[in-house]
Formats: sequence, structure tokens, C-alpha cells
Amino acid sequence: MKKRLCTALLSVLLPLSACAAPAAEEHSQLLLAMDTVMTVTAYGPEGEEAVQAACGRIRELESLLSVTDPDSEVYAVNHSGGAPVEVSADTAALTARALELCADTAGALDVTVYPVVRAWGFTTGDYRVPGEEELTALLERVDYRQVKLEAERLSVPEGVELDLGAVAKGYTGDQVCALLEQAGVTSAKLELGGNVQLLGSKPDGSLWRVAVRDPEGEGYVGIVEAADRAVITSGGYERFFEEGGETYWHIIDPASGRPARSGLVSVTVMARSGVTADALSTALFVMGREKAEEYWHARRDFECILIGADGTVTITPGLRDSFTLAGEGRTLEIWDET
Ligand code: AMP
Ligand code: MG
Repeated sequence: MKKRLCTALLSVLLPLSACAAPAAEEHSQLLLAMDTVMTVTAYGPEGEEAVQAACGRIRELESLLSVTDPDSEVYAVNHSGGAPVEVSADTAALTARALELCADTAGALDVTVYPVVRAWGFTTGDYRVPGEEELTALLERVDYRQVKLEAERLSVPEGVELDLGAVAKGYTGDQVCALLEQAGVTSAKLELGGNVQLLGSKPDGSLWRVAVRDPEGEGYVGIVEAADRAVITSGGYERFFEEGGETYWHIIDPASGRPARSGLVSVTVMARSGVTADALSTALFVMGREKAEEYWHARRDFECILIGADGTVTITPGLRDSFTLAGEGRTLEIWDET
């Protein structure tokens, strides 16, 4: 009797399993770290343990890289009175790559802009518009070339402050993806504030779909399809204040000490490396559309989506087939291949 029931059940289940593969198990964890909400989602049986390890790794990196935590390595470097500090391989590797990107972007990215960011109140929320003299004095302390890294000994002159905030989440995403991959995970998605990092494709083999937020509203401007990529956005809408009818946001042009007014309101960069995508999303925002186009033509190792204050959306030709505008009413520009 029992046996017959089993056979009957099997005959119902088999055709079902033949047409629909069982969904991969999903393991997801939400955490608050690096001043933002993060979600780590991994698929498959290795996911459960791997996600816990990933969260531990995020906490570890936060405790090394935070510019405000008095126990962090970056804090120690900024408060050593100019003396070199022995740092971890993580802090050294990220600083080395960040300095390369500062040089490569001709200082549009500058990891020493922190004193200026603080003067505007972006570190505490006590917002204010600093005077011209104050900014001129603070800019004397801004120059990434003052950061010295020899092996794992890191120093800045007294008064100069290192802040890896524009690249730390990208580095964290790279590290977490590597950790998940080593644990045997082949499909995962990390959401680290405005950063998305994708390991492999979706569990069913299709591409992930990442929404690019509308800088002026709650919706999104478009969708980009990708696998194995970092998709990272810097937007003026992420942190800002208004005073006297003007909007001031947290992305600073290191040349002027003022919020970058390049005509762009949001920059999304897609690349294999999270550090590169994070650095470039900030740097291209400072550069503006024309300089960003020149930069892309010279490098071509990333894709980007720029949204202008006029609503125009500009994309690299490599995104022609993978980016779709949502709705109507926006102009889409695609840069020339040549
Ligand atoms: P992101 O959200 O990645 O664009 O990084 C922005 C954060 O990096 C800001 O909150 C500042 O702390 C810092 N920052 C602002 N402007 C710059 C800049 N031009 N270069 C490097 N870091 C910056
Ligand atoms: Mg960034």
C-alpha cells in the first residue's frame, strides 16, 4: 500500500522536476557597516557558511579602514604626528591601488580631501558652507602625493588626512566576492549601499539586472544587465544639504574644495574590479561629461552610465545592448567607438 503511494507520488513529481529545475537555495544577510546598509546574498549549499564568513570579513575591513573609528589603522596613520605606521596587507593594498587611481585621474580622485569634506559637515551632519579663506587654507592640506607607502609602512605629514571612503566599499566587494568564490559559491550578489557586486550570473544562468536609480526621484532611470561585475554609482543625491536655494553634495572637487559641479548628478561605473569602479564613479563625477569621455577613450577598461543635470543619459558603446532606459522622456547618448 505504502509502496504504491510512493510510486504514484513519483509519477506526479517526476514530470514536474523535468520541466522546472529546483530553485537554488538562497542565503542572505543584512548588515549595517561602513555607514550604510549592506546585503550579502549567495546561492547554493555553500552559501550559508560563506555568507557568515563574508559578514565577518566586512566587519574586519570596516575596523581597519574607517576614518572615524579611533581603533582603525587609517585613524592611526592620521594621528601619528607624521610617523609611519605598520598597517595590514589590506590597508596597504587598497592604499597603493587608490594612489594609482588618484594619479591616473589627475587628482579628480584625491584620498586626502577629508579635511575639506569635514569642513562642509559631511562627516557629522552639521552642515555649513565654509568661507573662501577657510577653503584655501584647507586645500593646502589636500594632496594625495603626500601619502607615503613603503611596503606596509604608511604615513601622511601632520595635517594631511587619508580617507579611503571613496574606494573602501569597492575593495570590500572585491574581497567578499573572492572569499565567496573560494568557498565554492558560483552565484552571489552584494549590495553595499549604492554599490552592487555580482559573482557569476544568477543561479538559473541568466544575467543579473541592476537598476540605476533616478537621481531626482524614487524610481530608476534604467536597467543594466551584467554578470561577474561591479556596478557602482556615485550620486549627488546620496548625501547633501540645501542652503540659500543651493544644493551642496558630498562629492568634492579637490581643485576647488567645493562640491563638484560638473553638470553630472549621477555616475555609474561597471568594471571587473570593485576598487576601480568605485574610484572612477567618484572621479568621473568630478570630471564631468567631456573629461570623462576623454578618460574612457584613453582607458576603455570600464563601462559607464552618466546622468546629467539636464536629464541626458550618456553610456559607453559597450552598454548598447545591456542597458535599457526605463520609461520615456530621456535622451540617450552613446559615445563613439573611436
Ligand atoms: P563615493 O560615494 O564612492 O562617491 O565616495 C564619496 C565619499 O568620498 C565622500 O563621502 C567623501 O568622504 C569622499 N570624497 C568626496 N570627494 C572625493 C574626491 N574627489 N576624492 C576622494 N574622495 C572623495
Ligand atoms: Mg566611489
